[in-house]
Amino acid sequence: MRLLIASHNQKKKAELAAILSEMDIEVLSLAEVGALPMVEEDGDSFTANAVKKALQTAQNSGYLSLGDDSGLVVDALDGAPGIYSARFAGEDADDARNNAKLLDMLAEVPDERRTARFICALALANPGGKYWTVEGRCEGRIDRAPHGTAGFGYDPLFIPAGQDLSFAAMAAEDKHRISHRGQALKELKRLLPQIMTQLEA
Ligand code: IMP
Repeated sequence: MRLLIASHNQKKKAELAAILSEMDIEVLSLAEVGALPMVEEDGDSFTANAVKKALQTAQNSGYLSLGDDSGLVVDALDGAPGIYSARFAGEDADDARNNAKLLDMLAEVPDERRTARFICALALANPGGKYWTVEGRCEGRIDRAPHGTAGFGYDPLFIPAGQDLSFAAMAAEDKHRISHRGQALKELKRLLPQIMTQLEA
């Protein structure tokens, strides 16, 4: 089975490819299929954006495509940054600025109210316009300072429930085993035989 990963985010793509490599799936990247039009992420939920990325990429490339839309939901911020996680600190934001803004906004929030979760919506779409979605979640809390250098995004600030280390301070395999993306891919794997039957129908 060949699958095109509909993401320009190199680190996210690398995570998806690493987890999918254990599933006997050949992964293609956007760089391998040539220039495709950019997909505008204007949906109002993680799932709506993942579906848009997967469908448009499948239709434009002719390949079965996987879209990922994910982000961090912080309870003390009423769910922000949510679907705006990548551009929390502005249109030209980067991970460092997003993390700094998050720490700043939570400066006065006590430890017991620093709960948060990562959410990952995945959509698998074929060029004919059929699609399937799954969601994975990982509960945790936001630390008071960044720790670790692995991973990407908010990983240095996020400590998963039941763990002492942030995502950025643990081994990649440990993150993948419990992460929102790992959970979503596990669910996709469970549904894959069913999906393949429908694709062939
Ligand atoms: P997207 O490309 O619009 O889905 O943006 C996802 C954003 O959510 C990333 O740029 C990160 O800021 C954040 N994010 C999603 N998944 C992770 C993760 O596994 N670790 C850390 N940050 C993440």
